[in-house]
Amino acid sequence: MEFSRRGFLKIAGAGIAGLSLGQLGFDLEPVKAYAFTMKIEGAKEVISICPFCSCGCNTIFSVKDGKIVSVEGDPDYPVSEGALCAKGAALLSMHGEGHRVTKPLYRAPYSDTWEEKSWDWMLERIARRVKETRDGNFIAKDDKGRQVNRLEAMFQLGTSQMDNEECALSHQMLRSLGVVHMDHQARI
Ligand code: SF4
Repeated sequence: MEFSRRGFLKIAGAGIAGLSLGQLGFDLEPVKAYAFTMKIEGAKEVISICPFCSCGCNTIFSVKDGKIVSVEGDPDYPVSEGALCAKGAALLSMHGEGHRVTKPLYRAPYSDTWEEKSWDWMLERIARRVKETRDGNFIAKDDKGRQVNRLEAMFQLGTSQMDNEECALSHQMLRSLGVVHMDHQARI
């Protein structure tokens, strides 16, 4: 197979374009560091805590013109020493790129689409379903006649967005219904 000079250059150019500069042997670390400095230049640093699990890694939020422009691990935090796992590293995109669900969404049984609902509609439905489930499944006594007052037909998984006090309230509410199966995402 023969190549013209122009054809050869086109193929070679496409090949080189398909390689990153890093693959071609250039050290990109100084460029990356400079690009990051540009991004956070003049930004205010706010120390916060990743909410996604009980490790509670410190984070540094850089805020510029009222907007979060960067989220990094905090090197001064002794537990994680500046590292963030994939969840913590995704904090910026969780905050600013429209992935977050901000309205109640409902998917009817056997449906493949989500419908937007009001909070009133959603809370009323949740309350009704909880009551129906409890009324239909509450176990007052076990098979030996002992009083147990428990509900095994419901399970609750807490979110790592809840603080200690919210967890305590949620726990008390579920225990008052007799729920015995519960866990928390922050423990996983
Ligand atoms: S989710 Fe990851 S970054 Fe966040 S606190 Fe837990 S370990 Fe740290």
